[in-house]
Amino acid sequence: MSDLVIPAELLPADGRFGSGPAKVRPDALAAVAASPLIGTSHRKPAVRNLVARIKERLAELYSMPDGYQVVLGNGGATSFWDLACVSLIERCSSHASYGSFTKKFATAASRAPWLKPPVVTEAPFGSGCLPAVEAGADAYAWAQNETSTGVAMPVERPAGVDDGALVLVDATSAAGGIDADLAQADALYFSPQKNFSSDGGLWLSFCSPAALERSARLTSGHDGRWVPDTLNLTLAASNSAKDQTLNTPALATLILLDEQLGWMLDNGGMGFVTARTADSSGRVYEWAEAHQYAHPFVADPAQRSPVVTTIVFDEAVDAPLLCSTLRANGILDVEPYRALGTDQMRIGVFASVDPEDVSRLLGCIDWVLERIVV
Ligand SMILES: *Cc1c(COP(=O)(O)O)cnc(C)c1O
Repeated sequence: MSDLVIPAELLPADGRFGSGPAKVRPDALAAVAASPLIGTSHRKPAVRNLVARIKERLAELYSMPDGYQVVLGNGGATSFWDLACVSLIERCSSHASYGSFTKKFATAASRAPWLKPPVVTEAPFGSGCLPAVEAGADAYAWAQNETSTGVAMPVERPAGVDDGALVLVDATSAAGGIDADLAQADALYFSPQKNFSSDGGLWLSFCSPAALERSARLTSGHDGRWVPDTLNLTLAASNSAKDQTLNTPALATLILLDEQLGWMLDNGGMGFVTARTADSSGRVYEWAEAHQYAHPFVADPAQRSPVVTTIVFDEAVDAPLLCSTLRANGILDVEPYRALGTDQMRIGVFASVDPEDVSRLLGCIDWVLERIVV
């Protein structure tokens, strides 16, 4: 770490640029402190009304198609992968793997003894791919936004898949920051600690009628599959329909999520958040493209994420020193994902991040670079 002190007038108003957990709006946090719900039963009307409102607001944000259901449960997106192996994948899944998170789901499927080894299509870090269409694959999996590398991929049902094959899209870092047509996916799932500026511990999914039917069949016990309650999507769906969760949820997480949804919808909904993340990320990419010492990590502009931006610095720059200097000045979590090279920086520009703060951050990076590049 250097002992450089960035002049206060250059600093962003909020220094949180992580890729999750990420910036929580102070108003939302104040709402948690003021909430009469904390410390009360999740089986009683007040908390159930909160869950009902979250479901309604998510459906509104995404113009949810008829027949789809918002389902939620405890455990985050990581638990949803295991749940999908139990409740959604029948025999064989086809995955696209282009970073740490997409790879983790493929690995989870490869470990389930009742499934065939998954088909895995890989792309090198910094680019993306879609899962290969394979006869016999009954589920297709990829991420709308691969958070480890900053690669965004479209949500589009692949052509030519078997009848009834399910499309499972990890939208953990995309949801609430990048739009999607829900009709293109059977389960578009996420945790709320990214664009939704909540805390971790919960998974939510928009589920199509086909996904709900598949789950009802697989969890009925007809093929002897072990179905733990926590990985049973049908049980989660019946609890969600009653505005509850199977077991106790973190109430603060629900309150923060609801506050963020209210903020998003009050400001214009999906159009508002996507314009904001496009503005913020555009500032980072334009800056990097014009920079003497930096360039965007993702080569194809069409695959550059509007919510998680990744930058590579050239040899002249000691990127870890840059990140630690920023950290010492209150600019947090811009270090690259642990599996990527240390010559990088990853800047989360989720919906809550103010585009003006992004410009200030870039100004701070330049200010430090002027002093550490020799
Ligand atoms: C953060 C993230 C996850 C993991 O979410 P958890 O809530 O920690 O389980 C999974 N997938 C993607 C794309 C993510 O960004």
